[in-house]
Amino acid sequence: MSAALNGKKISLAVLENLKLETAALKAQGVEAGLAVIIVGDDPASRVYVDNKKKDCALVGIRSFEYALPGDTTQEELINLVKDLNAREDIHGIICQLPIPKHLDEKAVLNTIDPSKDVDAFHPVNVGHIMLGDCLLLPCTPAGIMEMLKTEGVAIEGKHCVVIGRSNIVGKPMAMLMLKENATVTLCHSKTINLPQITRQADILVAAVGRAKFVTADMVKEGAVVIDVGMNRDDNGKLCGDVDYEAVSPKASLITPVPGGVGPMTRAMLLKNTVTAARRQNNIFN
Ligand code: NAP
Repeated sequence: MSAALNGKKISLAVLENLKLETAALKAQGVEAGLAVIIVGDDPASRVYVDNKKKDCALVGIRSFEYALPGDTTQEELINLVKDLNAREDIHGIICQLPIPKHLDEKAVLNTIDPSKDVDAFHPVNVGHIMLGDCLLLPCTPAGIMEMLKTEGVAIEGKHCVVIGRSNIVGKPMAMLMLKENATVTLCHSKTINLPQITRQADILVAAVGRAKFVTADMVKEGAVVIDVGMNRDDNGKLCGDVDYEAVSPKASLITPVPGGVGPMTRAMLLKNTVTAARRQNNIFN
């Protein structure tokens, strides 16, 4: 019989802690600030940006929205990022993705000052993750590690299988688990005999982007199953990459969708912003 890994509940505890941290920073004259850039009028991006602003308000981080029209030029966007890099009241900068196709996403992300790169997408921060000395952690993998730690799930020596090798989820997830001394297998669309590999997992992370992709026959009895996916099923209902109903009787712990990884990802962006504010002001207590 499995237990649900309640990301919503764990994230609330993270937020409560961040409230205390932002208050303590404020007492030392620092008000943590996050700049959120949105280009164009993608409705999903608008929802994400509004949620980020709400989250900031909840924990005492100032948010600054920069809503740019869809026909913004590369130069205008880069210049905005450079201006934000130079601002002392802004400690974190994110550019909501995707941005319109005429813009060079990589060039924009690489312009963000690595010390303000609270999504941890900049090559400097990616390099730190590879070296195992992360300063700012990518939000989704960091949220998953926080959940596992809070639930007391041992990672050392365990076989962790990650399905998906994206730069924002799969690859950094594998690195963070490796840092905790797991034995890690990273799978992708060219992996041969995937179920045979996933059945070996003590901890299975699915970051594929396909509704109910992980079926019960792919999971070992007692495994911890982390579902990163955010998909719509045939009825338009939000669902993960894991067939929750079928897999949960086999898993010892399993994250639901919604209410699992998503809230933890949101919380980690705020945590990174507070970390960045501390570091930029040399406050380490
Ligand atoms: P992505 O960039 O599309 O990567 C998907 C990965 O899945 C790729 O590495 C791909 O392999 C692999 N894959 C696709 N089909 C496969 C198959 N049949 N067998 C094995 N591997 C397969 O996606 P992403 O950005 O990592 O996101 C994954 C999912 O997580 C999406 O549903 C996304 O919405 C969700 N997400 C959720 C959160 C959250 O906070 N909850 C955050 C980020 C993402 P190849 O590399 O070989 O193509």
